[in-house]
Amino acid sequence: MILVIKNDSQKRQLDNLISWIKSLGLNVHLSHGENSTIMGIIGDTSLLDIDLVSSLDIVETVKRISEPYKKSNRKFHPQDTIIQVADAKFGGNNFAVIAGPCSVENEEQIISIAVDVKAAGATALRGGAFKPRTSPYAFQGLRADGIRLLLLAKAETSLPIVTEIMSVTHLDMFSDVDVIQVGARNMQNFELLKELGRSNKPILLKRGLANTMEEWIMSAEYIMAEGNNRVILCERGIRTFEHYTRNTLDLSAIPLIKELTHLPVIVDPSHASGLARLVAPLSLASAGVGSDGLIIEVHNNPEKALCDGPQCIRPNQFADIMRRIRVILPLVGKESAF
Ligand code: PEP
Ligand code: MN
Repeated sequence: MILVIKNDSQKRQLDNLISWIKSLGLNVHLSHGENSTIMGIIGDTSLLDIDLVSSLDIVETVKRISEPYKKSNRKFHPQDTIIQVADAKFGGNNFAVIAGPCSVENEEQIISIAVDVKAAGATALRGGAFKPRTSPYAFQGLRADGIRLLLLAKAETSLPIVTEIMSVTHLDMFSDVDVIQVGARNMQNFELLKELGRSNKPILLKRGLANTMEEWIMSAEYIMAEGNNRVILCERGIRTFEHYTRNTLDLSAIPLIKELTHLPVIVDPSHASGLARLVAPLSLASAGVGSDGLIIEVHNNPEKALCDGPQCIRPNQFADIMRRIRVILPLVGKESAF
């Protein structure tokens, strides 16, 4: 981190600043020019609050030269992290697809969809048991019973299951879940992230509705800082001024996040667009920019879905996407496992 110190600063103020920085275990390198003093801070500057430093009287400007995230940073871990969940491999030259309904609705629905998506090549089953709905009057999910039904579908198909957690207090109910999803609305629920960091489960961390890439990576860092390195990032669209789509898919995040971190990154084209007819083109585009996989909402009867029907595709449309993706994967150095 580099600080430019104001011209009119007193020596006493500068000495105070230096002793505070040293008390944090960091080192200081000063360079006195004719018109200004430049201070280089050496060491783990993630300990320093950049906003606090910028607000100090004697500080003119501050520039971070290294990122505030360490564990997820590709600089310190150049190889791709590969996260294996049953037969699904996320990261490296693998491409994994999670598919299933927005919400688990009943036994017949979840088992029938699980069988269909497996036949098309999906390597994991999704289904919400706890649903984050804008309205408290909308279907809230089957909760514990939803998890029970997902486990039945897992027993039937051997697909690992992915489902969203909304509260730390529910963690015990997730003991047999294979991947715990943190939804967009909870991306910055830091107490939840810390608790999941102490669990031994892979975490699917969705990008927040209005969060920068750096904030998203810092949320992954929260989980990793507690010892859990199995974090899969998921770009699911961000909120912009556009209202023809539910969100705006930020495809540029995929190659950039993969450059900045070693974590796998997948795309959710369903929540990104909110429109079933855009799921195929966005899935292909995501594979084309190097995504490590997809999470797609698939329903056997979208018109009757209790949640997110307009963005759910049917099993035959899902199978068609899988066939077309297979053609793209070799072009981006990925192997198709389906
Ligand atoms: C979901 O996956 O069902 C979901 C609610 O997604 P998001 O958190 O991205 O809105
Ligand atoms: Mn949904």
